[in-house]
Amino acid sequence: MNTIGHITISSLLEMAVDHHKLLDYYNNVYELITLDNEPGDIERIYSTTYGKVALGSDPTLQDFVSHIPVAPDFEYAGHFRDGLLNYIECGKTECRILPYESMVFHTHPFNSEIADIPSELDLYLFLQHPYAVECTIGRDKCWVFIKTAETLKKVEKMRKWKNKHMVNMICEMVRNNCSDDEITYSAPYLFLEKIFNIIMPNDLEKLLCYDWQNAARKKLGITILVGTLRSR
Ligand SMILES: [Zn+2]
Repeated sequence: MNTIGHITISSLLEMAVDHHKLLDYYNNVYELITLDNEPGDIERIYSTTYGKVALGSDPTLQDFVSHIPVAPDFEYAGHFRDGLLNYIECGKTECRILPYESMVFHTHPFNSEIADIPSELDLYLFLQHPYAVECTIGRDKCWVFIKTAETLKKVEKMRKWKNKHMVNMICEMVRNNCSDDEITYSAPYLFLEKIFNIIMPNDLEKLLCYDWQNAARKKLGITILVGTLRSR
């Protein structure tokens, strides 16, 4: 882990839009979000409690990242609050992040061929949820998404698009006999495609070459820091 340097969590959060402002915007303007997933819910879903690591009130990003647990075949997720790294074991290809925390993370199974690429769902959920900073741990890389005023312009664009088109889009999917699960699963991909013209390749070779950083920066207004991890 080196290229993200010795930036502290507090200075990272200062680069983002103030978290209270984000909560206010998402609660009162964006409105499409339901701030579900209370801590107890997630612990119930995974039948376990959050592991905790004390890192001090303002650790460096490097320190934070180096204490996040990783696994070859399932994901971890969690958040940093009051000096504690809180983590929980999640599923093979899914995780739950508390949407109202300011600094959150999830890990990708490091045996996955696509561990070093954010999923379309990762990109979408970063817009959809009010966290200020999200850190993802891949296999050889980690990256940090920072929500700035530029990102919020894109969130607002998404809100307006959804207000205008989402009902029609869902009705059309229902007419095409999509199941509830298919609609839930497909909608985020369609939003990225229709609103932001982001289409990540299905083909593995093409996906591994896909310039996701450029797409996330230019099309979604996300500020990104990328670090390299010690090889496992
Ligand atoms: Zn992910």
